[in-house]
Amino acid sequence: MPDDAIRCDACPVLCYIKPGRTGSCDRYGNHEGKLVRLDPHVMLDRTLERGDSVVPFLERSGEWDGTLVSHGETFVTAIGAGTTYPDYKPAPFIISSQAQGVDMVTVVTEGIFSYCGVKVKIDTDRYLGAECSTVRAEGEAIGHVTTSEYGSQMLSLGGVRHLTGGSRHEGTATCDALLNLCNGQAVELEIDDGANIVVQAGKPPVVDNMAEERMRVGCGSAAIGMFAKQWYGKVDEVVVVDDHITGVLSEHQAGKLLGVPETGIKLKGRRSTPGRYFQVAEPGTSWGGTNIEDPLSILGKFSPRKAWPGLRLLMVSTTGEHYAYFELDENLSPQERDLPASLQESVARIRENCEPALCTVLFMGGAGGSLRAGVTENPVKLTHSVSRAFTRVTCGGAPVYVWPGGGITFMVDVSRMPQNAFGYVPTPALVAPIEFTLKLADYAALGGYVRNVRPLSSVVSSNDGRRRLAARSDNPWPLGSPQEMPEQKLSAKRRPTKPGRMKQTKR
Ligand code: SF4
Repeated sequence: MPDDAIRCDACPVLCYIKPGRTGSCDRYGNHEGKLVRLDPHVMLDRTLERGDSVVPFLERSGEWDGTLVSHGETFVTAIGAGTTYPDYKPAPFIISSQAQGVDMVTVVTEGIFSYCGVKVKIDTDRYLGAECSTVRAEGEAIGHVTTSEYGSQMLSLGGVRHLTGGSRHEGTATCDALLNLCNGQAVELEIDDGANIVVQAGKPPVVDNMAEERMRVGCGSAAIGMFAKQWYGKVDEVVVVDDHITGVLSEHQAGKLLGVPETGIKLKGRRSTPGRYFQVAEPGTSWGGTNIEDPLSILGKFSPRKAWPGLRLLMVSTTGEHYAYFELDENLSPQERDLPASLQESVARIRENCEPALCTVLFMGGAGGSLRAGVTENPVKLTHSVSRAFTRVTCGGAPVYVWPGGGITFMVDVSRMPQNAFGYVPTPALVAPIEFTLKLADYAALGGYVRNVRPLSSVVSSNDGRRRLAARSDNPWPLGSPQEMPEQKLSAKRRPTKPGRMKQTKR
């Protein structure tokens, strides 16, 4: 170790950092011999969200009288808070505040997640690749295509197998892709035997250089059910082309109830139930997520016993992006005509009912045994406290979904978090903010580091290295409504020290 270097102990890499330089992850630096976290520590402010002017905390709350009571308008996030390592050390910030008259504690840390991943929902009908196909970034396998859901294609990326179980380059490429996706950057991905896509949280996907505009209104059968009345009397037959379930008006229950007569139409593919056909074509990037360019290619010959010359046929995709209108000639062969004005509205209605196509990125992490040890000396008690809803988990102040079952496995929509909330360490692993908020009494009961609790005022009164952001109005306030949190029965022995008498610690 060079004489003037200092050692960063915020992660297992344990970098030696010379003056004026940063460690491997660029999160910590040596500033005049002191180890400093380089990014600002982010606090959320409800007064900013309301458009109020910013006033210093102490002015806002009157002169601080040394109690732990605070306004409940500021939430200290874990973004920029730093990490403690090894894990038995208390989390970097354990903040007391008051919300609606209840003493609360928020334990704040930037967790290091070696097992994390992201789930990406891509609103498109277009074929991206077969289920289980490998997804690559920079040529390295970083995940796979998983089950598509309701008109969206789903990717499962990252996880410990790609982060640490493959080559060094695979781990780095996976970490880079996850970091960029979580921080709202565009990432280019290739799918084996499938499409090349550009994915960015909150933006439309780009599939093989084409920006997707709309997700489908539903499957072909659902579209028939929705719009049958609007077609009735204006056209004799409608086929809604879809990779999964293609609908046929005259055979569908919706058409039957309206009294639409049989038309003698024949569809290729496998008939499921009346008016619903599977596998009319191969998956692709054309009509309704199939590979067809010519819609007539999915039709057989019309039955001469039921069809008639002049029969009017509309074929449309589930997004309304593709459509064609035909009339049968004397030989019962469909001849393409211009779409009549009376049908233009119904095609436009399909398009209108299609939501804008977006990419959604959910970060999936777990508060493992080690991270929990920074919250309490008995980590399993934190797990129990979260599962019984005594403890609320947030990521950069954004709400998370905690999976039922063992552990604290959670998902968060990265677009609800402040920008650039994620970092990395070269082990490789992602660094993500995580906060645990609970009543002070419950914190003491679960064996929390009560001696390390510091009042909110000791953090927010100094703007040094801190950044205030307006809290998002569409996120629930992380300090929440403590009255809605369940009551935990405490024995007299476990009652915490009175907040006013609690020892305050300095950073
Ligand atoms: S990688 Fe970053 S957090 Fe880890 S020791 Fe180096 S500077 Fe510190």
